[in-house]
Amino acid sequence: MRWLIDLDGVVWRATTLVEGTDLALAQLRARGDSVRFVTNNSTLSAQDYVAKLASFGIEASVEEVLTSAMAARLALGASQRVFAIGEEGLRSEVAKGNELVTPNELEDAEGLDAVVMGWHRGLTWDLLARACVAIRSGARFFATNRDATYPLERLIVPGTGALVASLVAATAVEPTYCGKPDWPMVELASSHVLPGDTLMVGDRLSTDGAFAAALGVPFALVRSGVAEPAQAGIDVAIEAPTLRHLVANVIEREPKLS
Ligand SMILES: [Mg+2]
Repeated sequence: MRWLIDLDGVVWRATTLVEGTDLALAQLRARGDSVRFVTNNSTLSAQDYVAKLASFGIEASVEEVLTSAMAARLALGASQRVFAIGEEGLRSEVAKGNELVTPNELEDAEGLDAVVMGWHRGLTWDLLARACVAIRSGARFFATNRDATYPLERLIVPGTGALVASLVAATAVEPTYCGKPDWPMVELASSHVLPGDTLMVGDRLSTDGAFAAALGVPFALVRSGVAEPAQAGIDVAIEAPTLRHLVANVIEREPKLS
């Protein structure tokens, strides 16, 4: 069985592991199941996610991590002059095959091919102003993801979608969204789906649930992250408090004898 697993709000909240997730993932590996981590969080590179997982004792390889920054690069195409507003995970990914440009003056922002925006905890008015000028001058506009909020250990804070909304207001241009549940991430992840034997696990119906529907795989909702009310058209196949409970339920239901 193949598990597509969201990270924020499922495996951890910020820098705290959701209890039992390390053991649950070890159980899946021992059972011979395979795992892909699918995150809308573009702040870290795949290598950095592997290191963060390892810091919690969770085994993973770079090939098993899919981020919204990778989806953004797919949507962007190649050989673009790009202004990237985001953290290292976005900047390093978008730089592959493209020229990263940081305008020194507002006037320099004219003539860029694209603006890509991800979650940026160092966001300033100056960065927004340059992106606004670039987009109003015709640069294509991409956003890594729609998530309006982000779950810290105990608090909910503004996510990428909330930051992107300011540029949408200033430009009247809707970006191409790249992460779950939008087409670039669907395209990126589709080759990782084992038909009839894949489960998508997430804490957010509007992204993870809709993503599962777009991929044509069942959705398992865990309640360890952002809680959203039920949504029409998004089916929840299984629900559990945490990934640990979910894995225990599935293993009980589908014991593997091999
Ligand atoms: Mg999440």
